[in-house]
Amino acid sequence: MSYDNNNIFAKILRGEIPCNKAYEDDFALAFHDITPSAPVHVLVIPKGEYTSFDDFTASAPATTIHGFFAAVQKVAQKTGVDKTGYRIISNHGADASQSVPHFHVHVLGGKPMGHLLA
Ligand code: 5GP
Repeated sequence: MSYDNNNIFAKILRGEIPCNKAYEDDFALAFHDITPSAPVHVLVIPKGEYTSFDDFTASAPATTIHGFFAAVQKVAQKTGVDKTGYRIISNHGADASQSVPHFHVHVLGGKPMGHLLA
């Protein structure tokens, strides 16, 4: 799949659409999900053009991958869910219902999350 520059997260990265920012560094931007599924629901996105987890891990340089996942952990720290527990989810493709074609990780927590998909 080629990268679509008009996807909603690309517009957020360019500052064309506002977001409720939770964290930012050289590798990632994190912002609160517009329709949260948990008390803490933050989306973490890389700054480069990657369509999904599959694309990101196959194509991005190791330093970029490391920087991105370090940012995910910083988001957990900043939101406090590192203390109470959290779940990270990344949907890739149709069967996972990925709806935005810019790689993102959901950080979910702030309440007992149940076991996996339950
Ligand atoms: P996916 O289904 O691709 O894994 O997750 C996309 C997520 O992006 C959804 O949880 C959805 O609520 C969120 N989302 C879609 N559009 C926007 C938006 O404009 N702003 C924010 N903050 N979140 C969005």
